[in-house]
Amino acid sequence: MNAVLILGGTAEARALAAELHGARIPVTSSLAGRVRDPALPVGDVRIGGFGGPAGLADYLRAHRIRAVVDATHPFATGMSASAAAACTAAEVPLLRLARPGWADHPLAGGWQWVDGPAEAVRAAAGRRVLLTTGRRTLDEFAVLDAPFVLVRLVDPVSADLPAEWSVLTSRGPYTVPGELALLREHRIELLVTKDSGGQMTEPKLLAAQQLGVRVVVLRRPAAETGVPAVSTVSETVGWVRSTVEG
Ligand code: NAP
Repeated sequence: MNAVLILGGTAEARALAAELHGARIPVTSSLAGRVRDPALPVGDVRIGGFGGPAGLADYLRAHRIRAVVDATHPFATGMSASAAAACTAAEVPLLRLARPGWADHPLAGGWQWVDGPAEAVRAAAGRRVLLTTGRRTLDEFAVLDAPFVLVRLVDPVSADLPAEWSVLTSRGPYTVPGELALLREHRIELLVTKDSGGQMTEPKLLAAQQLGVRVVVLRRPAAETGVPAVSTVSETVGWVRSTVEG
């Protein structure tokens, strides 16, 4: 039986690798190589881009991959598009594993949902802001006209940020007491986040609610059409089993 390829970089991808490894299903996890000191899944790991859909299709054929699970972050749209195209070309079954978003969170009705950074910039103007939307959209937030901006990132950025911004490098999971302390210390009035979903970064939302801090949430990009999707690791294990063992 040949390997399963997990496109990773998320906690769900690591949990899936551990489950499949435990079930003795040969699996390779793929990471982009963006983070300096990534949390590594168990088992075989490869790091770095494939060179677009054609490069990934070549990889699938060369390694005789039997099934691909796209367990990348919901905002990693480039990799998901590439996976859909490559799996179609190489005729390899593809499943999307994406954790549920926060649209159904009990507090979601009190947040301002926006379609992208430009709308978030308008919503956050004039406030003391905590920005937790990640490295990729920083350029689009550079025009933010706010008296104070604290940006929280996993790694320091090499790109130029506005000189007056403060940068905090840290990695989840976070706690509600820790997030309360951070929001209080910097007298944050508004939190900007993306709809990552999951529990690792949820405490900031609970802390914001407790302190009356406004929350602006970037909606998720649309999922790839035509790719079957599940939201749990256990459903994914079932799909992998039926695909490679069936
Ligand atoms: P992206 O914009 O969707 O991907 C851009 C390119 O990076 C892809 O076309 C691919 O290069 C390479 N790449 C991305 N994920 C890869 C993977 N798992 N294995 C091998 N190559 C990968 O990706 P991104 O948003 O920068 O995210 C990069 C990684 O960080 C992903 O693994 C994702 O799960 C993780 N992550 C992202 C976010 C986020 O907010 N975007 C948050 C947490 C974790 P080629 O075209 O050369 O194959």
